[in-house]
Amino acid sequence: MSAAPALPESIRVFERGWLSSNNVLLVDEARAALVDTGYATHAEQTLALVRHALGPRALDLIVNTHLHSDHCGGNARLQAQWPCATLIPAASAPIVREWDEARLSFLATGQTCERFAFTGTLAAGERLALGGFDWEVVGAPGHDPDSVMLYAAGPRLLISADALWEHGFGVIFPELEGESGFAEQHAVLEAIAKLDVRVVIPGHGKPFTNVEAALERAFSRLAWLRADPARNAKNALKVLIVFKLLEVRAMTFDALLAMLENAASLRAAAQQLGPRSAWPGLLRELAGELAKSGALVINGERFEAPAAAV
Ligand SMILES: [Zn+2]
Repeated sequence: MSAAPALPESIRVFERGWLSSNNVLLVDEARAALVDTGYATHAEQTLALVRHALGPRALDLIVNTHLHSDHCGGNARLQAQWPCATLIPAASAPIVREWDEARLSFLATGQTCERFAFTGTLAAGERLALGGFDWEVVGAPGHDPDSVMLYAAGPRLLISADALWEHGFGVIFPELEGESGFAEQHAVLEAIAKLDVRVVIPGHGKPFTNVEAALERAFSRLAWLRADPARNAKNALKVLIVFKLLEVRAMTFDALLAMLENAASLRAAAQQLGPRSAWPGLLRELAGELAKSGALVINGERFEAPAAAV
């Protein structure tokens, strides 16, 4: 495995895993800012990481690339610690202001997020000074219609959120509900290809440099998903099941089946794959595949997260 690429001294990446997104700490004389805050159950750990890195200094600003629970779940805890400003994607502002649980993604995905407030918004084309660099806000629909990325042309850095990982990208959620997402994701990948990027800081996984190869993998994965949307639905279910197990560590088959029936995003994905009567079989099939790849452990009627997984 290659070492993580060098980043400017003003930027630190806390690589977290899959339950929590990475956190990017950018510090300059004017302010200390954190891009994305991890999952709710990791909030104390996120606070400890930031506090350790900042020493006596306060966190001044939180920036969220998008409002999935693994990217904004630490907001409330950090805001309780420091009276920091918080910027969220402009398109998400109304539903956060009202804390509209039917439209926020947390219930739909069977996840949780403590309520938080925001002080400002981010829209594509706007600029932001962070860590001594000038960043452009770049729209990144596809995985999430409201998501943004941050690009700094000076150091040639891209904070890509879940639009581009070293190996793939996040679930294309809009397609689960019959809305367009593949076309948007394609356009986002094309937009990234046009940027001059030395290092990508993804939402999950370590920062990486070989952007061309990552884009190539992402384009071919997207084409594969697009050719048969059931693949996206199946991937979504797997990702959401594994995520839930990372949070709660273990669930019974019946509890997982209930989640499939009650959480809107899972239900929409399952509906793409077959009628309700087929869902128990579908769940066993997916669990079997996940067990084979080591993403979960089947223990009788209990499904468990692997011991080492975070
Ligand atoms: Zn996401």
